[in-house]
Amino acid sequence: MNRQRLDIAIVGGGMVGMAQAALLAVRHPQLQVALLEASTEVPRVPADSYDARVVALTQASRELLEEMGAWDAIGDSRACPYTEMRVWDAEGTGSVRFNSRDVQMPNLGHIVENNVVVAALRARLEALPNVELVNGFRLESWWRDCGLWHLQPRSDRINVIEGLEENGEVLRTRLLIGADGARSKVRDLLRIRCQDTDYHQTALVCVARCEKTHRHTARQRFLKTGPLAFLPLAGLGDENHCAVVWSADEALARELVMLDDQAFCLNLEKAFESSLGKVESVSERFSFPLRARHAESYYGPGAVLVGDAAHSIHPLAGQGVNLGLQDVRVLSDEIGRALKRGLEPADISVMARYQRRRRGDNATTLKAMSTFKSLFGAGDLHWRWLRNTGLSMVDASPLLKKRIILRAMAV
Ligand SMILES: Cc1cc2nc3c(=O)[nH]c(=O)nc-3n(C[C@H](O)[C@H](O)[C@H](O)COP(=O)(O)OP(=O)(O)OC[C@H]3O[C@@H](n4cnc5c(N)ncnc54)[C@H](O)[C@@H]3O)c2cc1C
Repeated sequence: MNRQRLDIAIVGGGMVGMAQAALLAVRHPQLQVALLEASTEVPRVPADSYDARVVALTQASRELLEEMGAWDAIGDSRACPYTEMRVWDAEGTGSVRFNSRDVQMPNLGHIVENNVVVAALRARLEALPNVELVNGFRLESWWRDCGLWHLQPRSDRINVIEGLEENGEVLRTRLLIGADGARSKVRDLLRIRCQDTDYHQTALVCVARCEKTHRHTARQRFLKTGPLAFLPLAGLGDENHCAVVWSADEALARELVMLDDQAFCLNLEKAFESSLGKVESVSERFSFPLRARHAESYYGPGAVLVGDAAHSIHPLAGQGVNLGLQDVRVLSDEIGRALKRGLEPADISVMARYQRRRRGDNATTLKAMSTFKSLFGAGDLHWRWLRNTGLSMVDASPLLKKRIILRAMAV
Protein backbone atom coordinates (compact mmCIF):
# COMPACT_ATOMS: atom_id res chain seq x y z
CA MET A 1 0.00 0.00 0.00
CA ASN A 2 1.26 3.48 -0.85
CA ARG A 3 1.49 5.19 2.55
CA GLN A 4 2.30 8.47 0.84
CA ARG A 5 -1.09 8.77 -0.82
CA LEU A 6 -3.77 6.96 1.13
CA ASP A 7 -7.44 7.54 0.35
CA ILE A 8 -8.45 7.27 3.99
CA ALA A 9 -6.48 7.04 7.25
CA ILE A 10 -8.34 6.17 10.43
CA VAL A 11 -6.65 7.14 13.70
CA GLY A 12 -7.62 4.79 16.56
CA GLY A 13 -8.08 1.04 16.33
CA GLY A 14 -10.73 0.52 19.04
CA MET A 15 -14.01 -1.16 18.13
CA VAL A 16 -15.31 1.85 16.22
CA GLY A 17 -12.13 2.57 14.23
CA MET A 18 -11.75 -1.09 13.27
CA ALA A 19 -15.39 -1.32 12.22
CA GLN A 20 -15.01 1.85 10.15
CA ALA A 21 -11.98 0.43 8.35
CA ALA A 22 -13.67 -2.93 7.71
CA LEU A 23 -16.92 -1.47 6.41
CA LEU A 24 -15.22 1.00 4.06
CA ALA A 25 -12.87 -1.69 2.75
CA VAL A 26 -15.70 -4.17 2.16
CA ARG A 27 -17.98 -1.64 0.45
CA HIS A 28 -15.26 0.07 -1.59
CA PRO A 29 -12.47 -2.32 -2.65
CA GLN A 30 -10.93 0.48 -4.75
CA LEU A 31 -10.11 2.58 -1.65
CA GLN A 32 -6.73 2.30 0.09
CA VAL A 33 -7.40 2.49 3.84
CA ALA A 34 -4.90 2.57 6.72
CA LEU A 35 -5.82 2.06 10.37
CA LEU A 36 -3.34 3.72 12.73
CA GLU A 37 -3.37 2.44 16.30
CA ALA A 38 -1.17 3.63 19.17
CA SER A 39 -1.07 0.31 20.99
CA THR A 40 1.05 -2.67 19.91
CA GLU A 41 -1.03 -5.17 21.88
CA VAL A 42 -2.57 -8.05 19.96
CA PRO A 43 -6.08 -8.87 21.28
CA ARG A 44 -6.33 -12.27 22.98
CA VAL A 45 -9.40 -14.25 23.96
CA PRO A 46 -8.35 -16.68 26.74
CA ALA A 47 -10.30 -19.94 26.59
CA ASP A 48 -10.76 -20.13 30.37
CA SER A 49 -11.69 -16.61 31.49
CA TYR A 50 -13.96 -13.74 30.53
CA ASP A 51 -13.01 -10.15 29.69
CA ALA A 52 -14.57 -7.89 32.35
CA ARG A 53 -15.40 -5.24 29.73
CA VAL A 54 -18.44 -6.08 27.65
CA VAL A 55 -20.85 -4.42 25.25
CA ALA A 56 -24.56 -4.96 24.75
CA LEU A 57 -24.81 -5.07 20.96
CA THR A 58 -28.16 -4.20 19.40
CA GLN A 59 -29.74 -5.85 16.37
CA ALA A 60 -28.66 -2.87 14.22
CA SER A 61 -25.03 -3.30 15.34
CA ARG A 62 -25.18 -7.01 14.66
CA GLU A 63 -26.42 -6.38 11.12
CA LEU A 64 -23.54 -4.00 10.48
CA LEU A 65 -21.00 -6.50 11.84
CA GLU A 66 -22.57 -9.10 9.56
CA GLU A 67 -22.19 -6.82 6.55
CA MET A 68 -18.48 -6.33 7.24
CA GLY A 69 -18.02 -10.08 7.72
CA ALA A 70 -17.10 -10.01 11.42
CA TRP A 71 -20.25 -11.35 13.06
CA ASP A 72 -19.70 -15.08 12.42
CA ALA A 73 -16.50 -15.08 14.48
CA ILE A 74 -18.32 -13.22 17.30
CA GLY A 75 -21.62 -15.10 17.24
CA ASP A 76 -19.99 -18.52 17.02
CA SER A 77 -17.82 -18.00 20.07
CA ARG A 78 -19.00 -16.05 23.05
CA ALA A 79 -21.98 -13.83 22.28
CA CYS A 80 -24.73 -14.25 24.85
CA PRO A 81 -28.20 -13.50 23.47
CA TYR A 82 -30.49 -11.93 26.06
CA THR A 83 -34.22 -12.40 25.78
CA GLU A 84 -35.31 -10.33 28.73
CA MET A 85 -34.30 -7.11 30.44
CA ARG A 86 -35.39 -6.23 34.00
CA VAL A 87 -35.00 -2.74 35.42
CA TRP A 88 -36.09 -1.76 38.91
CA ASP A 89 -35.79 1.06 41.42
CA ALA A 90 -34.03 0.34 44.71
CA GLU A 91 -36.13 2.99 46.43
CA GLY A 92 -39.66 1.80 45.71
CA THR A 93 -41.71 -0.83 43.96
CA GLY A 94 -41.42 0.41 40.36
CA SER A 95 -40.04 -2.11 37.90
CA VAL A 96 -40.25 -2.94 34.22
CA ARG A 97 -39.57 -6.09 32.20
CA PHE A 98 -38.89 -6.05 28.48
CA ASN A 99 -39.10 -9.39 26.68
CA SER A 100 -38.17 -10.27 23.11
CA ARG A 101 -41.65 -11.82 22.80
CA ASP A 102 -43.08 -8.27 23.12
CA VAL A 103 -41.63 -7.56 19.66
CA GLN A 104 -41.71 -11.09 18.21
CA MET A 105 -37.91 -11.30 18.02
CA PRO A 106 -35.64 -14.17 19.11
CA ASN A 107 -33.69 -11.85 21.44
CA LEU A 108 -33.20 -8.21 22.46
CA GLY A 109 -29.49 -8.16 21.65
CA HIS A 110 -26.21 -9.84 22.61
CA ILE A 111 -23.77 -9.28 25.45
CA VAL A 112 -20.25 -9.71 24.06
CA GLU A 113 -16.86 -9.27 25.69
CA ASN A 114 -14.84 -6.38 24.24
CA ASN A 115 -11.83 -8.59 23.44
CA VAL A 116 -14.06 -10.97 21.43
CA VAL A 117 -15.33 -8.10 19.24
CA VAL A 118 -11.85 -6.63 18.82
CA ALA A 119 -10.29 -10.02 17.94
CA ALA A 120 -13.01 -10.73 15.35
CA LEU A 121 -12.62 -7.30 13.74
CA ARG A 122 -8.86 -7.61 13.65
CA ALA A 123 -9.06 -11.04 11.98
CA ARG A 124 -11.43 -9.56 9.40
CA LEU A 125 -9.14 -6.58 8.72
CA GLU A 126 -6.13 -8.86 8.25
CA ALA A 127 -8.05 -10.69 5.53
CA LEU A 128 -8.96 -7.54 3.58
CA PRO A 129 -6.36 -6.64 0.91
CA ASN A 130 -7.14 -2.90 0.79
CA VAL A 131 -6.61 -2.19 4.52
CA GLU A 132 -3.30 -1.80 6.29
CA LEU A 133 -3.21 -2.06 10.06
CA VAL A 134 -0.36 0.04 11.45
CA ASN A 135 0.23 -0.72 15.13
CA GLY A 136 2.40 1.44 17.40
CA PHE A 137 1.45 4.65 15.54
CA ARG A 138 0.45 7.30 18.10
CA LEU A 139 -0.56 10.39 16.13
CA GLU A 140 1.26 13.39 17.55
CA SER A 141 1.31 16.12 14.90
CA TRP A 142 0.07 16.89 11.43
CA TRP A 143 -0.14 19.47 8.71
CA ARG A 144 -2.14 19.85 5.51
CA ASP A 145 -0.70 20.54 2.11
CA CYS A 146 -2.27 20.30 -1.40
CA GLY A 147 -5.39 18.61 0.00
CA LEU A 148 -3.41 15.91 1.82
CA TRP A 149 -3.05 15.43 5.57
CA HIS A 150 0.53 14.62 6.61
CA LEU A 151 0.45 12.51 9.78
CA GLN A 152 3.38 12.11 12.10
CA PRO A 153 3.58 9.72 15.06
CA ARG A 154 5.21 10.45 18.42
CA SER A 155 8.93 10.51 17.65
CA ASP A 156 9.94 7.74 20.08
CA ARG A 157 7.58 5.37 18.24
CA ILE A 158 8.99 5.89 14.74
CA ASN A 159 11.66 3.20 15.02
CA VAL A 160 9.18 0.49 15.94
CA ILE A 161 6.81 1.14 13.04
CA GLU A 162 7.76 -1.07 10.16
CA GLY A 163 8.59 0.78 6.96
CA LEU A 164 7.93 4.25 8.32
CA GLU A 165 11.54 5.48 8.49
CA GLU A 166 12.20 4.69 4.82
CA ASN A 167 9.02 6.51 3.90
CA GLY A 168 10.16 9.78 5.44
CA GLU A 169 8.35 9.31 8.77
CA VAL A 170 4.98 10.62 7.68
CA LEU A 171 1.81 9.14 6.20
CA ARG A 172 -0.27 11.15 3.76
CA THR A 173 -4.00 10.85 3.28
CA ARG A 174 -6.88 12.57 1.54
CA LEU A 175 -9.42 11.91 4.31
CA LEU A 176 -8.64 11.51 8.00
CA ILE A 177 -11.13 9.82 10.33
CA GLY A 178 -10.62 10.38 14.07
CA ALA A 179 -11.75 7.27 15.99
CA ASP A 180 -9.27 7.81 18.80
CA GLY A 181 -11.64 7.73 21.75
CA ALA A 182 -12.96 10.15 24.33
CA ARG A 183 -9.69 12.11 24.70
CA SER A 184 -9.25 12.41 20.96
CA LYS A 185 -6.01 13.91 19.65
CA VAL A 186 -7.62 14.42 16.24
CA ARG A 187 -10.39 16.50 17.87
CA ASP A 188 -7.73 18.57 19.68
CA LEU A 189 -5.68 19.08 16.54
CA LEU A 190 -8.80 20.23 14.69
CA ARG A 191 -9.44 22.64 17.61
CA ILE A 192 -12.98 21.37 17.97
CA ARG A 193 -14.44 22.28 21.31
CA CYS A 194 -16.26 19.75 23.41
CA GLN A 195 -19.16 20.00 25.86
CA ASP A 196 -17.86 18.11 28.86
CA THR A 197 -19.91 17.04 31.90
CA ASP A 198 -18.47 15.18 34.86
CA TYR A 199 -21.04 12.65 36.16
CA HIS A 200 -19.05 12.40 39.43
CA GLN A 201 -19.44 8.65 39.18
CA THR A 202 -17.01 5.82 38.52
CA ALA A 203 -17.96 2.58 36.79
CA LEU A 204 -16.50 -0.51 38.44
CA VAL A 205 -16.51 -3.51 36.13
CA CYS A 206 -15.75 -7.16 36.83
CA VAL A 207 -17.10 -10.65 36.15
CA ALA A 208 -19.13 -12.29 38.93
CA ARG A 209 -19.99 -15.94 39.38
CA CYS A 210 -23.47 -16.20 40.91
CA GLU A 211 -25.31 -18.98 42.68
CA LYS A 212 -28.34 -18.81 40.34
CA THR A 213 -28.26 -18.98 36.53
CA HIS A 214 -28.82 -15.73 34.66
CA ARG A 215 -31.50 -17.17 32.34
CA HIS A 216 -30.37 -14.89 29.51
CA THR A 217 -31.72 -11.84 31.32
CA ALA A 218 -29.95 -8.47 31.58
CA ARG A 219 -30.73 -6.93 34.96
CA GLN A 220 -30.24 -3.38 36.22
CA ARG A 221 -31.10 -2.02 39.66
CA PHE A 222 -31.15 1.75 40.07
CA LEU A 223 -29.61 2.69 43.40
CA LYS A 224 -29.58 6.27 44.63
CA THR A 225 -25.79 6.17 44.23
CA GLY A 226 -25.99 4.94 40.61
CA PRO A 227 -27.12 1.95 38.51
CA LEU A 228 -25.84 -1.60 39.06
CA ALA A 229 -26.10 -3.99 36.10
CA PHE A 230 -25.59 -7.76 35.86
CA LEU A 231 -25.26 -8.77 32.19
CA PRO A 232 -25.39 -12.44 31.18
CA LEU A 233 -22.27 -14.10 29.71
CA ALA A 234 -21.92 -17.23 27.60
CA GLY A 235 -19.15 -19.42 26.29
CA LEU A 236 -17.45 -21.07 29.24
CA GLY A 237 -19.97 -23.86 29.72
CA ASP A 238 -22.35 -22.49 32.38
CA GLU A 239 -24.96 -19.76 32.82
CA ASN A 240 -23.74 -18.49 36.17
CA HIS A 241 -21.31 -15.80 35.04
CA CYS A 242 -22.36 -12.16 34.61
CA ALA A 243 -20.48 -9.02 33.67
CA VAL A 244 -21.04 -6.45 36.42
CA VAL A 245 -21.13 -2.73 35.67
CA TRP A 246 -21.54 -0.79 38.92
CA SER A 247 -21.72 2.96 38.32
CA ALA A 248 -21.30 4.51 41.75
CA ASP A 249 -20.92 8.01 43.14
CA GLU A 250 -17.23 8.78 43.60
CA ALA A 251 -17.16 8.39 47.40
CA LEU A 252 -18.81 4.96 47.27
CA ALA A 253 -16.64 3.87 44.34
CA ARG A 254 -13.50 4.75 46.34
CA GLU A 255 -14.74 2.56 49.23
CA LEU A 256 -15.65 -0.33 46.92
CA VAL A 257 -12.25 -0.29 45.22
CA MET A 258 -10.51 -0.72 48.60
CA LEU A 259 -12.52 -3.82 49.64
CA ASP A 260 -11.02 -7.31 49.42
CA ASP A 261 -12.83 -9.78 47.13
CA GLN A 262 -14.88 -11.38 49.87
CA ALA A 263 -16.18 -8.08 51.24
CA PHE A 264 -16.80 -6.82 47.69
CA CYS A 265 -18.89 -9.96 46.90
CA LEU A 266 -21.02 -9.35 50.00
CA ASN A 267 -21.57 -5.68 49.12
CA LEU A 268 -22.41 -6.59 45.54
CA GLU A 269 -24.91 -9.23 46.60
CA LYS A 270 -26.59 -6.84 49.04
CA ALA A 271 -26.75 -4.00 46.53
CA PHE A 272 -28.34 -6.39 44.04
CA GLU A 273 -30.88 -7.74 46.58
CA SER A 274 -29.46 -11.27 46.11
CA SER A 275 -31.41 -11.37 42.82
CA LEU A 276 -29.06 -14.07 41.53
CA GLY A 277 -28.46 -15.67 44.93
CA LYS A 278 -25.01 -15.55 46.46
CA VAL A 279 -22.23 -13.79 44.57
CA GLU A 280 -19.69 -16.58 44.86
CA SER A 281 -16.60 -14.97 43.34
CA VAL A 282 -15.46 -11.97 41.34
CA SER A 283 -12.66 -11.38 38.86
CA GLU A 284 -10.17 -8.53 38.94
CA ARG A 285 -11.99 -5.14 39.12
CA PHE A 286 -11.41 -2.21 36.75
CA SER A 287 -12.65 1.33 37.19
CA PHE A 288 -13.61 4.04 34.69
CA PRO A 289 -14.42 7.64 35.70
CA LEU A 290 -17.61 8.64 33.89
CA ARG A 291 -17.98 11.82 31.84
CA ALA A 292 -20.31 12.89 29.06
CA ARG A 293 -18.59 14.57 26.15
CA HIS A 294 -20.01 15.90 22.91
CA ALA A 295 -17.93 17.53 20.19
CA GLU A 296 -19.45 20.83 19.06
CA SER A 297 -18.66 19.90 15.47
CA TYR A 298 -17.96 16.46 13.97
CA TYR A 299 -15.60 17.68 11.24
CA GLY A 300 -12.91 20.05 10.05
CA PRO A 301 -11.22 20.39 6.64
CA GLY A 302 -10.64 16.86 5.30
CA ALA A 303 -11.16 15.28 8.71
CA VAL A 304 -14.12 13.81 10.60
CA LEU A 305 -14.83 12.29 14.04
CA VAL A 306 -16.64 9.02 14.84
CA GLY A 307 -17.42 7.05 18.03
CA ASP A 308 -16.22 8.25 21.41
CA ALA A 309 -14.04 10.88 19.72
CA ALA A 310 -17.33 12.62 18.81
CA HIS A 311 -19.46 11.65 21.83
CA SER A 312 -19.14 9.60 25.01
CA ILE A 313 -22.04 8.79 27.30
CA HIS A 314 -22.96 7.16 30.61
CA PRO A 315 -22.90 3.35 30.24
CA LEU A 316 -26.30 2.92 31.95
CA ALA A 317 -28.06 2.07 28.69
CA GLY A 318 -25.03 0.37 27.12
CA GLN A 319 -25.21 2.45 23.95
CA GLY A 320 -21.67 3.86 23.43
CA VAL A 321 -20.44 1.35 20.86
CA ASN A 322 -23.88 1.07 19.27
CA LEU A 323 -23.96 4.82 18.62
CA GLY A 324 -20.38 4.63 17.31
CA LEU A 325 -21.34 1.86 14.90
CA GLN A 326 -24.22 3.94 13.60
CA ASP A 327 -21.71 6.77 12.95
CA VAL A 328 -19.66 4.23 11.00
CA ARG A 329 -22.67 3.18 8.92
CA VAL A 330 -23.77 6.72 8.10
CA LEU A 331 -20.26 7.98 7.27
CA SER A 332 -19.72 4.96 4.98
CA ASP A 333 -23.10 5.64 3.30
CA GLU A 334 -22.11 9.25 2.68
CA ILE A 335 -18.67 8.33 1.32
CA GLY A 336 -20.37 5.80 -0.99
CA ARG A 337 -22.83 8.46 -2.17
CA ALA A 338 -19.98 10.90 -2.91
CA LEU A 339 -17.98 8.31 -4.85
CA LYS A 340 -21.01 7.53 -7.01
CA ARG A 341 -21.22 11.23 -7.89
CA GLY A 342 -17.55 11.45 -8.74
CA LEU A 343 -16.69 13.42 -5.60
CA GLU A 344 -13.74 12.93 -3.24
CA PRO A 345 -14.36 10.99 0.03
CA ALA A 346 -13.09 14.15 1.77
CA ASP A 347 -15.59 16.41 0.01
CA ILE A 348 -17.14 18.87 2.45
CA SER A 349 -20.66 17.63 1.55
CA VAL A 350 -19.80 14.14 2.92
CA MET A 351 -18.96 15.53 6.32
CA ALA A 352 -21.77 18.07 6.47
CA ARG A 353 -24.36 15.40 5.59
CA TYR A 354 -22.82 12.94 8.07
CA GLN A 355 -22.99 15.51 10.86
CA ARG A 356 -26.57 16.41 9.98
CA ARG A 357 -27.64 12.77 10.15
CA ARG A 358 -25.78 11.84 13.35
CA ARG A 359 -25.28 14.78 15.70
CA GLY A 360 -28.95 15.31 16.58
CA ASP A 361 -29.50 11.59 17.31
CA ASN A 362 -26.41 11.39 19.49
CA ALA A 363 -27.39 14.58 21.34
CA THR A 364 -30.83 13.10 22.11
CA THR A 365 -29.29 9.93 23.55
CA LEU A 366 -26.76 11.93 25.60
CA LYS A 367 -29.57 14.07 27.02
CA ALA A 368 -31.69 11.01 27.82
CA MET A 369 -28.82 9.36 29.72
CA SER A 370 -28.15 12.51 31.75
CA THR A 371 -31.87 12.82 32.57
CA PHE A 372 -32.02 9.16 33.70
CA LYS A 373 -28.95 9.64 35.84
CA SER A 374 -30.40 12.71 37.56
CA LEU A 375 -33.89 11.23 37.90
CA PHE A 376 -32.67 8.07 39.62
CA GLY A 377 -30.16 9.99 41.76
CA ALA A 378 -32.89 12.22 43.21
CA GLY A 379 -33.91 11.06 46.69
CA ASP A 380 -36.92 13.22 47.58
CA LEU A 381 -40.40 11.76 47.73
CA HIS A 382 -41.76 13.60 44.72
CA TRP A 383 -39.12 12.24 42.34
CA ARG A 384 -39.29 8.75 43.85
CA TRP A 385 -43.04 8.67 43.29
CA LEU A 386 -42.64 9.98 39.76
CA ARG A 387 -40.06 7.41 38.62
CA ASN A 388 -41.75 4.45 40.33
CA THR A 389 -45.09 5.39 38.77
CA GLY A 390 -43.33 5.86 35.42
CA LEU A 391 -41.71 2.41 35.52
CA SER A 392 -44.98 0.73 36.52
CA MET A 393 -46.88 2.57 33.78
CA VAL A 394 -44.41 1.43 31.12
CA ASP A 395 -44.59 -2.13 32.46
CA ALA A 396 -48.39 -2.11 32.18
CA SER A 397 -48.43 -0.80 28.59
CA PRO A 398 -47.51 -3.38 25.91
CA LEU A 399 -47.63 -0.70 23.19
CA LEU A 400 -45.23 1.64 25.00
CA LYS A 401 -42.89 -1.26 25.76
CA LYS A 402 -42.87 -2.30 22.13
CA ARG A 403 -42.00 1.23 21.01
CA ILE A 404 -39.19 1.53 23.55
CA ILE A 405 -37.69 -1.85 22.57
CA LEU A 406 -37.84 -1.14 18.84
CA ARG A 407 -36.25 2.29 19.33
CA ALA A 408 -33.43 0.81 21.46
CA MET A 409 -32.79 -2.04 18.99
CA ALA A 410 -32.41 0.35 16.07
CA VAL A 411 -29.49 2.27 17.60
C1 LIG B 1 -17.87 0.74 32.12
C2 LIG B 1 -18.31 0.91 30.71
C3 LIG B 1 -19.27 0.06 30.17
C4 LIG B 1 -19.71 0.22 28.85
N1 LIG B 1 -20.68 -0.61 28.36
C5 LIG B 1 -21.12 -0.45 27.07
C6 LIG B 1 -22.15 -1.29 26.51
O1 LIG B 1 -22.69 -2.18 27.15
N2 LIG B 1 -22.53 -1.08 25.23
C7 LIG B 1 -21.96 -0.09 24.47
O2 LIG B 1 -22.36 0.06 23.30
N3 LIG B 1 -21.00 0.71 24.97
C8 LIG B 1 -20.56 0.57 26.25
N4 LIG B 1 -19.59 1.38 26.75
C9 LIG B 1 -19.01 2.42 25.89
C10 LIG B 1 -17.95 1.85 24.98
O3 LIG B 1 -16.98 1.14 25.70
C11 LIG B 1 -17.30 2.98 24.20
O4 LIG B 1 -18.31 3.76 23.61
C12 LIG B 1 -16.41 2.40 23.09
O5 LIG B 1 -15.36 1.64 23.63
C13 LIG B 1 -15.84 3.51 22.23
O6 LIG B 1 -15.09 2.94 21.18
P1 LIG B 1 -14.11 3.81 20.32
O7 LIG B 1 -13.48 2.85 19.36
O8 LIG B 1 -14.81 5.01 19.80
O9 LIG B 1 -13.02 4.37 21.35
P2 LIG B 1 -11.95 3.58 22.20
O10 LIG B 1 -12.42 2.23 22.58
O11 LIG B 1 -11.54 4.50 23.30
O12 LIG B 1 -10.72 3.37 21.19
C14 LIG B 1 -9.87 4.43 20.84
C15 LIG B 1 -8.57 3.83 20.26
O13 LIG B 1 -7.76 4.90 19.78
C16 LIG B 1 -6.41 4.68 20.16
N5 LIG B 1 -5.77 6.01 20.22
C17 LIG B 1 -5.98 7.00 21.12
N6 LIG B 1 -5.21 8.08 20.83
C18 LIG B 1 -4.50 7.75 19.70
C19 LIG B 1 -3.53 8.46 18.91
N7 LIG B 1 -3.14 9.72 19.20
N8 LIG B 1 -2.99 7.82 17.83
C20 LIG B 1 -3.38 6.55 17.51
N9 LIG B 1 -4.30 5.84 18.24
C21 LIG B 1 -4.85 6.44 19.32
C22 LIG B 1 -6.51 3.97 21.51
O14 LIG B 1 -5.34 3.22 21.77
C23 LIG B 1 -7.75 3.08 21.31
O15 LIG B 1 -7.41 1.83 20.78
C24 LIG B 1 -19.15 1.25 28.05
C25 LIG B 1 -18.16 2.09 28.58
C26 LIG B 1 -17.75 1.94 29.90
C27 LIG B 1 -16.70 2.86 30.47
